[in-house]
Amino acid sequence: MRRPHRPGSRRRRRQATEVQCAGNLRTAVECSMVQREDSAPVPVAAETPVRTCIGCRSRAQATELLRIVAREAGPGAFLLVPDPRRRLTGRGAWLHPTPECLVQAERRRAFGRALRVSGQPGTEAVADWIAADSTTS
Ligand SMILES: [Zn+2]
Repeated sequence: MRRPHRPGSRRRRRQATEVQCAGNLRTAVECSMVQREDSAPVPVAAETPVRTCIGCRSRAQATELLRIVAREAGPGAFLLVPDPRRRLTGRGAWLHPTPECLVQAERRRAFGRALRVSGQPGTEAVADWIAADSTTS
C-alpha cells in the first residue's frame, strides 16, 4: 500500500521516529537504520527490536541478548568484544549471554559468518563477560 507523498506528513513521521529512538537510548547508527526502512511496512508502534541469537537461533528481544562486535587484533586475527551498551560501531552479532549459546555459536562458527570476519575470532572476552554476568545477577 502506497501513501501519497505529502511533505507535511512525512516530516511528522520522521520526528516521531527520532523521539522514539531517543527514548530507547539507541545509537545514531541504529536510528538511521530504522529510517532507511521507512519504505517498508514497519509497524509504527514497534516495541523492543527482535534479534536472532546466533547460538540457539531463536528469536528474542534485543534487551535479552548480548551484542557482540569483532575487533581486529592483528593481520587476519579478530577478537570478539561484548557490547552490552550497544554503542560500538560495526556489524553486531546477537547472543544469549549464556555459556550454552556461546558454545553453540562457536561450534557452528556463527561469529565469523555473522560478523563477516574470516577464521575463528577469539571468544575469551565474551566468555569472561558471560561468566561475570552470571555471577553478579
Ligand atoms: Zn541463544
